Amino acid sequence: MRLIFLGPPGAGKGTQAQRVSARLGIPHISTGDILREAVANQTPLGQKAKAYMDRGDLVPDELILGLVRERLEQEDAQQGWILDGFPRNLSQAKFLDELLAEIDQACDRAVNFTVPDEDIVQRLLARGRKDDKEETIRHRLTVYRQATAPLIEFYEQQSRLVSIDGSQEMNAVTEHLSQNLAA
Ligand code: ADP
Repeated sequence: MRLIFLGPPGAGKGTQAQRVSARLGIPHISTGDILREAVANQTPLGQKAKAYMDRGDLVPDELILGLVRERLEQEDAQQGWILDGFPRNLSQAKFLDELLAEIDQACDRAVNFTVPDEDIVQRLLARGRKDDKEETIRHRLTVYRQATAPLIEFYEQQSRLVSIDGSQEMNAVTEHLSQNLAA
């Protein structure tokens, strides 16, 4: 199973991705986690990415695309994967389509987690990660609407889109997701 998880920050993609990853035995690939680790380790990637992340802006594509390619080429990703936080704009989505065609893979579903904006701000403020300040959260939501939300239509046109109500409690979301993926 090859899955793309879409949705605003705080939609619960990471939590659900971990659960599906454990259940199906496929890797959970979060570009946000990869970037945060790079920042923590002060690698060249991390040093370049940090300011963008602190502001709530997308990191430039040239820092992300090679990283995703390398990750998808690894052994553990050959039988399936969950991409969480990638693609995040149309050029990343097109890159991914080309990359997958090249390595003879295809994504099965793009799962869109929907959550109202007010809920998101509350959830992220409660989470309290370093980039979860109210101003940064609002900026990440603006970036989400401008850059990432158009991907919903992109995957709809490919007939791969599944929508899940991410405002329900976590276990209910997991339940709905499992039902949808089995269908
Ligand atoms: P959230 O859980 O709030 O959706 P993530 O953990 O997915 O956030 O990402 C945190 C930050 O990492 C983003 O605000 C962005 O700066 C950067 N980032 C993650 N994935 C990408 C990507 N695919 N393209 C550009 N920037 C990214």
